[in-house]
Amino acid sequence: MDNTTRIPISEKGISAEMFDAYLGDFVTTKLTSKEVKQVGKVNGIEYKLMIRLTRWTGRTTPAQIVVLSRLFWANYPKMYERFGAAGESPTEITLDIENKGYGIAWNMGKLVHLHDGWLERCKEDYDCITHELAHAIQNGWDGETLEYDSFIERFADACRFLYAFNNGEFNDKDWQMQVLDREPTREDSVRFLVWFDYFYSTADNDLLLNYFKVCRGEKYPKAQWKEAWAEIFKGSALEGRDVDDIYAEYAASEFAGLSTKAVDGISPLLAKYDVRRNTK
Ligand SMILES: [Zn+2]
Repeated sequence: MDNTTRIPISEKGISAEMFDAYLGDFVTTKLTSKEVKQVGKVNGIEYKLMIRLTRWTGRTTPAQIVVLSRLFWANYPKMYERFGAAGESPTEITLDIENKGYGIAWNMGKLVHLHDGWLERCKEDYDCITHELAHAIQNGWDGETLEYDSFIERFADACRFLYAFNNGEFNDKDWQMQVLDREPTREDSVRFLVWFDYFYSTADNDLLLNYFKVCRGEKYPKAQWKEAWAEIFKGSALEGRDVDDIYAEYAASEFAGLSTKAVDGISPLLAKYDVRRNTK
């Protein structure tokens, strides 16, 4: 243990007031010597965020930690309300900012690790945590019962795009949802998920939620995923069509090729299609 870990976080630039300035009306923030503990209710559901700073060395600045907290309270309850019941997802998350371990971020259960050096290097990559929070919402999908193991990461990236903090204020400058040329098949396409959700979900039939339930349900071995896709699209305008045929429609669409890189504040894709209309 080095000396910095013995100094209480209140003496290293962290105070409850700096969080209260943004979250004071619905979140209670308390400090221990090594942690920020927050409890709040959103739409009747109580969430807890613990920001563990035992191995924090100040490379992630106090101001960045406040943004991470705001991101949690903006994004996690929304994802939880949509997918949490199907995922039996946790309502309590620990964000451990550590100057050790994997250089970016990872999730396991209720724990999200963020390397203390990551936001020092990539100062606005806050939404890497949106991706990790989506993994917490998934709560351990089993690759054996997914058509492709890659669906675990594809879904987390779809959530990163859809729920990007503050309508993509940071995300859309530096992080891209790839176009068809870069992710040509449904095995690797994030955008296909976003596409069918945008064009074919309705008020009573949320296709991304259906996809989540099927992925989480562990009902279909890889070989039976034609049936799984049929279940996902059931009751929608896509019902009865083969998934390859649906994918071909996506691949031929303008949507598949428009950049998500923000230019003058908004990306060509979002300027044309209000993809985040349900997640803002
Ligand atoms: Zn991931």
